[in-house]
Amino acid sequence: MSSSGTAIWWIRRDLRLNNNRALEAAAHDGRTVVPVFVLDPRFKASQSDKRMQFLYSGLRSLDADLSALGSQLIVKSGDPTRVLPELSRSLEAPVFAEEDFTPYARARDQQVASAAELNLVGGLTVFHPEEVLTERGGPFKVFSRFKTKWQSLSRQGAVTYDPRSIDFVSKGTHESVGIPEVTGNVQAGEDHARKAFDQFLVEDGAIWKYGEDRSRVDRDSTSGLSPFIKFGMVSTELLVEKATKLLDDETLPAASQASVRTWLSELIWREFFQAALYHFPDSVNRSLRPEFEGIDWNDPADHLTAWQQGMTGYPIVDAAMRQLSAAGWIHNRCRMIVASFLVKDLLIDWRHGATWFMKHLVDGDIAANIGGWQWTAGTGLDAAPYFRVFNPVLQGKKFDPNGEYVRKWIPELQGIADRYVHEPWESLSTGSNSKSINGYPLPIVDHREARKTTLDAFEKARSRHRSRTGNGN
Ligand SMILES: Cc1cc2nc3c(=O)[nH]c(=O)nc-3n(C[C@H](O)[C@H](O)[C@H](O)COP(=O)(O)OP(=O)(O)OC[C@H]3O[C@@H](n4cnc5c(N)ncnc54)[C@H](O)[C@@H]3O)c2cc1C
Repeated sequence: MSSSGTAIWWIRRDLRLNNNRALEAAAHDGRTVVPVFVLDPRFKASQSDKRMQFLYSGLRSLDADLSALGSQLIVKSGDPTRVLPELSRSLEAPVFAEEDFTPYARARDQQVASAAELNLVGGLTVFHPEEVLTERGGPFKVFSRFKTKWQSLSRQGAVTYDPRSIDFVSKGTHESVGIPEVTGNVQAGEDHARKAFDQFLVEDGAIWKYGEDRSRVDRDSTSGLSPFIKFGMVSTELLVEKATKLLDDETLPAASQASVRTWLSELIWREFFQAALYHFPDSVNRSLRPEFEGIDWNDPADHLTAWQQGMTGYPIVDAAMRQLSAAGWIHNRCRMIVASFLVKDLLIDWRHGATWFMKHLVDGDIAANIGGWQWTAGTGLDAAPYFRVFNPVLQGKKFDPNGEYVRKWIPELQGIADRYVHEPWESLSTGSNSKSINGYPLPIVDHREARKTTLDAFEKARSRHRSRTGNGN
């Protein structure tokens, strides 16, 4: 390690001053910390506008927090594999960064490490994927086993220090290109993350009913923390620690305990998918179950646009797709419903859906997104069985019982009676040849028929694979 008194804290998706292992490591031994963010044009090109706005807002917030400490965020523009080594050379300083597991990040970091002293530090997950392994030293493919192992390991706990005790480089010492403008009211950054988490935990906060309510799409039934987690505006180690502390409280009613436990489990799902991406980087583009690589998918030209625009004729699907385009976030239940609809009702390759999600989600995270898509499609790790097909009408009735959510996003259905809100075609009189209801389309496919066609396509792919390899799985 360099003996320089300066260290570069290379910020990527850990936009916070508190509970940050990479920052703590950079500041070790009283080193002066130079906080750097690199605007990488290649990265920008692959991100959704809303996600970029959230990132910029988070950078502005981090800059303000550093300003309050007499420092600033140094923003550079260019290819990080060039920018970081140059900066490291000119400052004679080692680089510290939180390790990221995407294939892009790993290749980039390898290149930086070949030209500069790069120290990768944990923090993206509670445990590094190499720490949660089977007895034989391999990755887990089943969530419940991963979770058991994960819970058996001893956690270090979130790292704590006072950011005011860190010697950050003084404002104005280094050139910075500045942070791009943010349009609209985007509420990103550590403070907003803290507020969102506090709100989740208040007396009537969603966490206490998470066990029973978490699938209700018509309520604020979840934490809404995913965009903050995506950019590390809050430490997941801290979230896990707080949830675990709540579970230690013996006075907590059993139902609340169960709710907290379920929420903690979701954070472990996140770790499972991060580990899956680390161990199976090809899963970004390939089905993890090879027998489903050979499915005869439908031509996306037929129905993909209707799905993207929220015009399939199935209200719960369309409400979610319209919310996704407008707000950049949808409930986990909605993600599963629309993903199941694309793959199992329209027989469109899950990769088209995953790409659309990444284009629109503020919390778009490759590991969680690929994990979620492959899980729903039945092609991934510990996935839903391929023959499990969500019925969009029943899902709507169950998780949006009064149609409040549907009416919010589909104005055409504002005036429809409750009993028809999830199946508006039933409101038409027998023999009607209407092509729409108040401008809202009739279903583009018949769910029952589509289900049969899809199961057939999955079965055929399996049997072709079996006869090629002699292996049914
Ligand atoms: C098809 C599909 C695509 C998805 N794409 C993404 C994505 O790009 N980014 C993303 O963060 N999540 C993704 N998810 C997971 C999940 O839908 C979101 O994390 C969740 O809806 C975020 O809302 P929340 O913060 O209120 O979650 P909460 O219910 O409050 O959960 C807390 C946190 O746990 C994690 N989490 C919860 N559920 C899951 C899950 N099923 N898988 C992995 N982590 C989970 C998230 O970090 C979340 O913020 C996807 C799920 C599916 C089915």
